[in-house]
Amino acid sequence: MWDLIVVGAGPVGLAAAIEAKRAGLKAVVLERGTLLETIYRWPRETIFFSEAKNLEIGGHPFPAAGPKPTRREALQYYRRVAEVEGLEVRTYTEVTGIAGQEGNFTVLYQDREGEGRMSARFVLVATGYYGNPNRLGVPGENLPHVRYGIEETLPYWNRTVVVLGGSNSAVETALDLYRGGAKVTVVHREGEIRPSVKYWLKPDFENRVKEGSIRLLLNAEVREITPTEVKIVQRSKDAEPAAFSLRADFVVVLIGYRAVDRLLREAGARFAGEDDAPVLSKAFETSIPGLFVAGSAGFGNDTRTVFIENGREHAQIAVREIAQRLQVVPR
Ligand SMILES: Cc1cc2nc3c(=O)[nH]c(=O)nc-3n(C[C@H](O)[C@H](O)[C@H](O)COP(=O)(O)OP(=O)(O)OC[C@H]3O[C@@H](n4cnc5c(N)ncnc54)[C@H](O)[C@@H]3O)c2cc1C
Repeated sequence: MWDLIVVGAGPVGLAAAIEAKRAGLKAVVLERGTLLETIYRWPRETIFFSEAKNLEIGGHPFPAAGPKPTRREALQYYRRVAEVEGLEVRTYTEVTGIAGQEGNFTVLYQDREGEGRMSARFVLVATGYYGNPNRLGVPGENLPHVRYGIEETLPYWNRTVVVLGGSNSAVETALDLYRGGAKVTVVHREGEIRPSVKYWLKPDFENRVKEGSIRLLLNAEVREITPTEVKIVQRSKDAEPAAFSLRADFVVVLIGYRAVDRLLREAGARFAGEDDAPVLSKAFETSIPGLFVAGSAGFGNDTRTVFIENGREHAQIAVREIAQRLQVVPR
């Protein structure tokens, strides 16, 4: 029996596994994709907004060439840390269910060989949010030319792309697409781009809009996506709302995320509050004794305030609590 099963091999899950190893726990990390699946899927040229030292786990120094690390540097860093720490990480192993409670959990999983189950005294879920993008809820949102993120810009070269959203991801993606040779229109339902957009992106974006390189439609909502068009209604102060269509070869929807928390719900953890998040103790334990959550997976709709920077600390706090409890629970 494992002392601890960690679900998810992102930076937060790895931080939890390091802490567990140092506390002498027998721990395994189960990951449905590859190591660091989320960061691997980000746009290739992403640069972190955090400084390298704020992304470090297990006290391992993160040497980055510039003031903010790149996606590639982060992938190398976290992979090396997992190797140096000798963490037990099982990739391509998707957890499909968690049952039981402290001292006696059953974790169901699916890997290349089929379904399996493992037993653990404690479980910590670190499934992040990236796998759960917000949807528009309009007809056509599942058409094949509708994307919920991009990896490279080349597939969009010389094509008409409508980007939906008005915060960091939408602004950064619109700039990348424009620089990659796409014809970009950004459609945002609010009256302005979010003031919290990264300080180095916002003026760049605003200047591209001013010079006419990127078109920006504010107070505009999408009603339907067809294979060739996006149907929009735009509100205005002085006139009736205007309904019109934009031509679109591709539509990129970047309107935020919510936690990947299905496992917690199905295990029976209690959820509450405006953010529809699990009820957590100070040590990030859910209402099910022994079932913990760390990072944005535990914060429902509030995915803007939990990052690697603070998620790694949740992981430490949770695992310290688990280690303390294991001292009194005979193994
Ligand atoms: C473009 C971009 C830039 C960002 N920049 C920063 C930054 O500069 N600084 C910062 O602190 N944060 C940043 N963030 C936020 C940060 O990426 C996330 O908060 C971070 O990835 C969270 O780490 P995590 O380990 O909690 O989740 P993730 O990295 O998302 O890891 C969760 C893992 O769980 C796995 N998983 C999910 N379900 C299952 C399952 N059922 N079974 C097994 N495995 C499962 C996933 O495959 C994934 O690998 C950024 C986010 C984006 C999108």
